Amino acid sequence: MKQRKVPLRKCVACQEMMPKKELIRIVKTPDDEVLIDLTGKKSGRGAYLCGKVSCFKLAQKNKSLDRALKHHVKPEIYEQLAEDFISVEDEFLAGKERLDNE
Ligand SMILES: [Zn+2]
Repeated sequence: MKQRKVPLRKCVACQEMMPKKELIRIVKTPDDEVLIDLTGKKSGRGAYLCGKVSCFKLAQKNKSLDRALKHHVKPEIYEQLAEDFISVEDEFLAGKERLDNE
């Protein structure tokens, strides 16, 4: 079997290098909105997090997203992202299983 090169990205919370599809992308849009980008195609500066709530919490605690996005992420935005993160986690994990079964 030929080995394909998997693009690696670093989780901004735990600093682990992971294949891109294992990570959730957070994007700061040109309008300065900070949101979760499950498609990975939104334009703007991106930061990656493992698809784990624990990593999100760590990023929230350390303000890792502020640094990665070079943007001050307000506490209420972190709260909003945390909620979104929990709701996309299931979808994200389900999508990953589909990929694994292919
Ligand atoms: Zn992580």
